[in-house]
Amino acid sequence: MVLDKKEVFEKLYGPNWEVQNWHPMIRNIRTGVKSSKAHHCGECAARRQRSCYEALHYVYCSAMVVADNGNVVRCGEVLCFRSKGCLHHPFSAGYNELFRELRLFGLVAEELVDMVTTPDSDLGARQKEQRRTENAEIQREMDRQAEELAEAGAGEGPQSFANIFDRFKNRNKQDEANRRAARRTEANLTRMATREAEAQRHRWTKKDTKISKFNKSKKRMEEQRKAEERAAQREARAKTEAGLLMNDGTLSIVRRP
Ligand SMILES: [Zn+2]
Ligand SMILES: [Zn+2]
Ligand SMILES: [Zn+2]
Repeated sequence: MVLDKKEVFEKLYGPNWEVQNWHPMIRNIRTGVKSSKAHHCGECAARRQRSCYEALHYVYCSAMVVADNGNVVRCGEVLCFRSKGCLHHPFSAGYNELFRELRLFGLVAEELVDMVTTPDSDLGARQKEQRRTENAEIQREMDRQAEELAEAGAGEGPQSFANIFDRFKNRNKQDEANRRAARRTEANLTRMATREAEAQRHRWTKKDTKISKFNKSKKRMEEQRKAEERAAQREARAKTEAGLLMNDGTLSIVRRP
C-alpha cells in the first residue's frame, strides 16, 4: 500500500544502489557511470555521500525512457532535489514527483512507484505506432487542405500545415497533463485512505479505553454497594441484639450466636 524510503530506493535504483555496488561518484544509477570528480551537497555543505541520497538531498531520475535499441529503461541520472530536476525530465513536467512526496511524508503510495517501475516493453512500440497513426492523420489533413487549396486556386499552404502541426502538438501536451493529474489524484486518494485508516484505528483505541474505564468504575460501584449492604446487615443485627437485651433484661450479656 505504501512504501518507505528504503523500499522505494530498492525498487527504483536497482542493483547499483546496493551498498557493495554503490559509489558516491555514480552519476547514473542504471548504468553505474561515474563522474570524474567528487561532488558537494549544498544541503549538508559537505562532500556528497550515501546519507545525502538516503535523505533525498539527491535522487536518481525515475523517468522511463525509450533507449536507442527500443528497450524501455529508467533514465537514472542523478539530480539535485533543490533544482529544476533532471535535465531531460524536469519536476515542472511532473517527473519524479514521488520523490517530493517521499521527502515530505517519508512514505509514498506503492501505485505511484509501480507506475515508474513496471517495465513497459511495449511502450516503444506503442509510441511508434501512435506516431505512425498521427503522421497518417496529418498526411490526410494535408492532402485534404492541398485539395482545397488546389480547388481555390491559391493560398497559404505552409502556414496551414504549421497550424495543423501545432494542433497535434497541443493535443499531446493536454493528454500528458491529464495523465499527470490522474496520477496525482490517485496518489492523493491513497494517502487520504491511509490517513483515514490511521484515524479510525486511533478512534478504536480511544473507544476501547473508554469501555475499560466504564467497566472498572462499574465494578467499583458494585463493590461499594455490597459493602454498604453488609454494613446495613451488621447494623440491623446489632439493633436486633439490642432489642433482645431490652426485651429480656435478665439476660443482659446474652448475644445471639
Ligand atoms: Zn546532503
Ligand atoms: Zn531523467
Ligand atoms: Zn544542487
